[in-house]
Amino acid sequence: MKSYTITKKMGTYCLLIAGVMLWTLSAQAHTAMRFCTTWRSHYVDSGHGEDVFTSDNPLNRPAQYTRYYLRNNDTGAYVSSGYLDSDGCTPYLSLSSNTEYKFSQGTKVSKSGAGTLYVNPDGYNWGYSYVWYTYYYTTGSFIYNVHHEHTFNPSTLNPYTNIMPIVGKVLDKYDTLGYNAGPYGLVTFFHTDCKENRNPSCCDHGGAYYKRGTPYICMAGDWGGSGATYWKFILGHEIGHRVADYHDGPGGGSYSFDDQTNPRCNCNHVESGSQLHCMQSMEYIAAAEGEGFGHFFSSALFNNRSSSNGIFVCPKETWFYFPPYGWIVYPPERPFDVTNYTKWGETECSLGNENKGVELDWMEFFWHAWADPISSTTLTSSELMSVWEESSSSNYDDLLDGAFSLWGNTSRYVQFWWQGYYSGVDHHD
Ligand SMILES: [Zn+2]
Repeated sequence: MKSYTITKKMGTYCLLIAGVMLWTLSAQAHTAMRFCTTWRSHYVDSGHGEDVFTSDNPLNRPAQYTRYYLRNNDTGAYVSSGYLDSDGCTPYLSLSSNTEYKFSQGTKVSKSGAGTLYVNPDGYNWGYSYVWYTYYYTTGSFIYNVHHEHTFNPSTLNPYTNIMPIVGKVLDKYDTLGYNAGPYGLVTFFHTDCKENRNPSCCDHGGAYYKRGTPYICMAGDWGGSGATYWKFILGHEIGHRVADYHDGPGGGSYSFDDQTNPRCNCNHVESGSQLHCMQSMEYIAAAEGEGFGHFFSSALFNNRSSSNGIFVCPKETWFYFPPYGWIVYPPERPFDVTNYTKWGETECSLGNENKGVELDWMEFFWHAWADPISSTTLTSSELMSVWEESSSSNYDDLLDGAFSLWGNTSRYVQFWWQGYYSGVDHHD
């Protein structure tokens, strides 16, 4: 009886030793390691006091929410795939020492609860295809019980890689920006082969524009390095149009009222881009609201909501009062502080009745309504757009009716009309 017990104990002891040895061996061969990666990007309209992507030098920025794939390149075995986290990193994975890994990152971002954005390859139609970039890394001899990390810093810089940090940031801030749509999220596609017009079904002309009624955004590629994707405020602006259109928000209609009586209320001074519309021109109201919303969305993307200032950088020529010279045409890349109450329409243009507006005024209206609580409450981007969805037209009185029908006589309604008054967009018949 006694010897049986001893034998049994010895057996258990040996099994324990064997187990510890096996566990030790496997611990030496594997460790917890993650890969992080970036996209190289260059935004020439940076460094004007905004809060996000502030350098105008080419930089590697975190590949937030980017599609990735990881294989063991020695065996070809699949290791992990999915979407990177908000830091541009994989989860911690059990990797082998002294082994080559093959890491691929694709021009697609996705975040659950928000949505998905694709950058389609040039020469292809719109769709779910995107571009992969692959890098290799060989692990060393791991130190047991230490978390390891390797960051790829790809040097590839092109229109695709310029778009990627921006769309990652859209998903990062999706909530207050309104980039969300039910359980499946909002989907948007980018194309960059506009300029050479290789694929007319994708982009009908150059420049940067959102194709209304679709999920498609065209960005003139200019692979030489100065096209629209090098202007982050333009990228943000076009995504704003997509979000507004999806939520039945402001936009559409004809653009310029083309007021020839006051040069500061038309676009004759614009040489760098389209004269169809510009920051200070008098426009039909729906167009002014839609463009103002695009400027606002871009400002909300690149500035913190709690900032005392907020910067939008305009890519076209604008009017600027410069004492003692008076009015001058300011060249492209002018920073506007969206926290101002400029009231351009009231002070410079004769708006006449309520079917006219100015982009600058509406940009400031949206910023204030979103970030500046007059009535102890602010409105999210989605809430703002729901007013347009609720209203019978884009005229200000109809918007007020829509806001009242949504919210009644509450602080939300007060925020909407009070900011309308201060921003000078409250034009009545
Ligand atoms: Zn626009």
